[in-house]
Amino acid sequence: MGTIEGAVVVVTGAGRGIGRAIAEELGHEGARVVVNYSKSKEAAEDVVAWLQQNGSPEAVAIQADVSDAAQAAKLIEEIIKRFGRIDVLVNNAGINIDRTMKNLSPEDWDKVIQVDMNSYYYTVKAALPYFMQQKSGKIINISSTNGQRGSFGQTNYATAKAGILGFTKSAALELARFNVTVNAICPGYIATEMFNAIPEKTRESILAGIPLGRAGRPQEVARAVRYLIVDGDYYTGETLSMNGGIYMQ
Ligand code: NAD
Repeated sequence: MGTIEGAVVVVTGAGRGIGRAIAEELGHEGARVVVNYSKSKEAAEDVVAWLQQNGSPEAVAIQADVSDAAQAAKLIEEIIKRFGRIDVLVNNAGINIDRTMKNLSPEDWDKVIQVDMNSYYYTVKAALPYFMQQKSGKIINISSTNGQRGSFGQTNYATAKAGILGFTKSAALELARFNVTVNAICPGYIATEMFNAIPEKTRESILAGIPLGRAGRPQEVARAVRYLIVDGDYYTGETLSMNGGIYMQ
């Protein structure tokens, strides 16, 4: 059984939304949380202030655009310098640029692949030597239902999110002998700013199609992350789907 108290946990893109909920869930139970952010310093510092008052006095915000390999590496180095180890890496940072392929430029394609998929490799690659040396660690990759089932107007996003699933399984195979597990979570529609940015009419039709009749809550994704850390020692290379029933495999 894994423990959260004292664990050094980094959550990428944790200034808001699902990342913030994960940081709060784990920090509340005493993890030493690193709140990574790219641009929104104020939001990240707000999360850290909350964490420091609520179970994670050593919480810290570290700026890094994880879609840049050098910055992702620097993030991991700073964590090691500060805490001497890394126990849990949650790859969560993500963006979307939604357009049908007819209107999708190669730049729109590349940007989303870079942030939503390549960054996951960059952070894992940088953390790898420490995980291997420790002979312990948990990597949790936030993917998406739309990577499992495809999504109209999201070829770039769905490709990145599907790629993460292949990456998760392959990394799990490579790291199992070091007692490092690698799993993915595929949330369906979760009520965050990313979801709220969907035009209202489309959002209404999405909600109407969810068997459980509502969007998920960021805290529900955070609880799944917690589960993998605390009770999920024998999961590796797996995908936890949580989507209110919109996609059943
Ligand atoms: P969000 O837009 O609210 O938060 C994403 C966070 O990532 C932001 O804080 C943003 O600043 C940060 N970020 C973006 N690019 C970054 C970079 N290069 N480096 C560091 N940080 C960066 O979105 P969210 O809804 O909280 O989504 C979090 C994750 O969950 C994403 O990977 C998203 O694809 C995934 N997801 C979301 C939903 C949903 O419905 N909201 C569903 C499935 C999967």
